[in-house]
Amino acid sequence: MSISSFHPPQRTLMGPGPSDVNPRILEAMSRPTIGHLDPEFIRMMDEMKELLQYAFQTKNKMTMPVSAPGSAGMECCFVNLVEPGDKVIVCQNGVFGGRMKENVTRSGGVVIPVDDEWGKAVDPVKLEETLKSNPDVKLVAFVHAETSTGALSDAKTLVELAHKYNCLTIVDAVTSLGGVPVLVDEWGIDAIYSGSQKCLSCTPGLSPVSFNDAALEKISQRKHPVQSWFLDLNLVMGYWGEGAKRAYHHTAPINALYALHEALVILQEEGLETAWKRHQLNHLALRAGVAALGLEFIAKEDERLPQLNTVTIPQGIDDATVRNRLLQDYNLEIGAGLGALAGKTWRIGLMGHASNKTNVLFCLGALEAILTDMGADIKSGVAVKAASSAYA
Ligand SMILES: *Cc1c(COP(=O)(O)O)cnc(C)c1O
Repeated sequence: MSISSFHPPQRTLMGPGPSDVNPRILEAMSRPTIGHLDPEFIRMMDEMKELLQYAFQTKNKMTMPVSAPGSAGMECCFVNLVEPGDKVIVCQNGVFGGRMKENVTRSGGVVIPVDDEWGKAVDPVKLEETLKSNPDVKLVAFVHAETSTGALSDAKTLVELAHKYNCLTIVDAVTSLGGVPVLVDEWGIDAIYSGSQKCLSCTPGLSPVSFNDAALEKISQRKHPVQSWFLDLNLVMGYWGEGAKRAYHHTAPINALYALHEALVILQEEGLETAWKRHQLNHLALRAGVAALGLEFIAKEDERLPQLNTVTIPQGIDDATVRNRLLQDYNLEIGAGLGALAGKTWRIGLMGHASNKTNVLFCLGALEAILTDMGADIKSGVAVKAASSAYA
């Protein structure tokens, strides 16, 4: 055997995540590994909680990163908050709502579905009707930013409705955090989870979560132990909790946490509002280029995510061929469509560090060149110019 070190190619990541990682974050990751109970490490953990409170716009004490990817943050919310027999409304308008339903069922809960068309936002009217006809429902769960379709739902209104009918809320903010406003305290979100590798532009593998007092109250009144040992918040808090006394629960992913700390420092330096504006500006420029090519967006303009752009593939063009050529010739990754949108759409991410003018112009130029070469029915020589004017 003579396998040598792995050296990945240098790509530009403009898919649904992971997004381009800021070099500062990779550098932070290579700093010396120390013990997970080292006082210096614990000091870093306390800073991390504060930085996450800023990112989530919350004062929730129970705010920390789960040591696993976004899917584990999702599972952490459901296994802690859902007890066997609990009725849970899950609003589904894409792939990730479907995973929420799986989580409810596997936690012993009963799913009450509110299904919306893929590409549309969650419909508050349908949610209210379902809340009215199911007075014994305990929880409402929905995805704020559906990465599978590029649709943004009105989290504030959905949470308000849930509370009006005495339900707690679980919100998926994996793709929204850092890209569009996520105001946990102002909107009254009870439990929320995100991911490190989307608009925070960190390496994958960590999931920031936050729980308010109402959520913690429900957890403290559980009659059944949380079915997952690893994700049981009562146990995790022995390590991530308040004060100097921390007990071993699992070995924290030390260097990955350095990376998230750095990502959050970068977010704090830029400022949340500036980051939201930057995502919007680059989205508008990409939109101008996409429109000039003659392609369309799946999500309606007022329900569209700036950080995840789902656009139509021109008639007769093979999705995989284009994406392979982008990867081979341009070292550029964009995402394929999922589910019913597979083969019909591309998903162009402008997340975190990847949301910049260079990437917008690069991606449009590359797509235009490949599509023109393949004889696609698009307008050529217009996209980069249209996007540039959007910046002017
Ligand atoms: C990416 C994503 C997840 C899952 O995150 P992983 O880190 O891949 O486990 C969950 N929800 C949404 C909306 C996502 O975009």
